Amino acid sequence: MYQWMQKLQYWMMGRNGTDQLAIACMIAGLVLSVVAQLFFWPLIFVSYLLYIWMLFRVFSRNLAARQRENQAFLKVWRPVAGWFSFQRTKFRARKTYKYFKCPHCHLALRAPRGRGKIQVTCQRCHTEFIKRV
Ligand SMILES: [Zn+2]
Repeated sequence: MYQWMQKLQYWMMGRNGTDQLAIACMIAGLVLSVVAQLFFWPLIFVSYLLYIWMLFRVFSRNLAARQRENQAFLKVWRPVAGWFSFQRTKFRARKTYKYFKCPHCHLALRAPRGRGKIQVTCQRCHTEFIKRV
């Protein structure tokens, strides 16, 4: 058992391994294969392509190129993940805080609920406005 793992470890030396983009390819491939079965079967080939690309990247020895790809992916993914995590935070705090945007600069703001009409000063642009919370 351990010998087998050591051999695998040795074989993986100098290779890219799983990174965030590989995991994303895996998940996208799985989702696509479900979508393909439900709606449009030729999409299954796209999911195969994603798996092949994922395996190619995991076993690739061109680390510089693979890291560039992963960084480019993270640049797109981080804001998306941030948006989702903000929605979750908002949902969890929905009973204690009211969330709204500054009418001038659209910065996301929050105030404790149940205080009636309050005057809000935006942290970023210092616009003052009245909000019912
Ligand atoms: Zn503002």
